[in-house]
Amino acid sequence: MRITGLPTPLTSTTTKRLVADTPHDFPCRRCLADAEPGEAVLLLSYDPWTVDSPYRQPGPVLVHERDCATVTTADLPEQQRRRLLSVRTFDAEGMARDAFLQAGSEVDLVAVLDDPAVSFVHLHNAGPGCFAARVDRG
Ligand SMILES: [Zn+2]
Repeated sequence: MRITGLPTPLTSTTTKRLVADTPHDFPCRRCLADAEPGEAVLLLSYDPWTVDSPYRQPGPVLVHERDCATVTTADLPEQQRRRLLSVRTFDAEGMARDAFLQAGSEVDLVAVLDDPAVSFVHLHNAGPGCFAARVDRG
């Protein structure tokens, strides 16, 4: 299982600069860590899709303003384990297979990817709907 943060650079016509003022409320989707209070982050619209799909939609994401490194990990990052997630599974053509809400601490992505029809997974913060990460096999 591979969870990959967003690439750099990201471009958006709607970027807003914010300064984190509380812990754990400003999750960077590039390094997959929450910004610390006082750190600057950029709020922008991002389209995570790599295939054309009727489900395709851009959405809001936060990334550190500084040049943090894109993280790839085999484990669900702490920033996502502490949140309620919307887990959305898709086949290779981008058609939805399943979607459900679950506490990040309880999501079993290995079991989700055990379905051979599932090609990739998108994780979103369940409340605000922010894109959190893409999950692939391998
Ligand atoms: Zn970051």
